[in-house]
Amino acid sequence: MAGAGVVVQGGSLLCSHGGTATVASGSTRLTVGSKGVLVSGGEIGLTFSESCVSAAPTAAVATKLTVGKMPVLLATSGGPTTNSQAGAGTWTVQSAGQTKLTAK
Ligand SMILES: [Zn+2]
Repeated sequence: MAGAGVVVQGGSLLCSHGGTATVASGSTRLTVGSKGVLVSGGEIGLTFSESCVSAAPTAAVATKLTVGKMPVLLATSGGPTTNSQAGAGTWTVQSAGQTKLTAK
């Protein structure tokens, strides 16, 4: 297995209601094509277009690529969302934002 794409600034998440959220910022210590990679924790609290808010990932953060001892988020990552109107949902990665760097 070649690994999965590393999510960077400009990538997007998709929630189970069809809402999207864009990754606004990433690490300044590890970048791909000048876009900062999304370190796990940075995806928490992103607001989706239909008002979901992302919570910490429960699936697939990198085990071998870390920045400051924190794993980076992968295209195969996912987790729950909270939403007071539509009810709780889940999020997945819609676009990693880059295709050059993969990790496990
Ligand atoms: Zn949603």
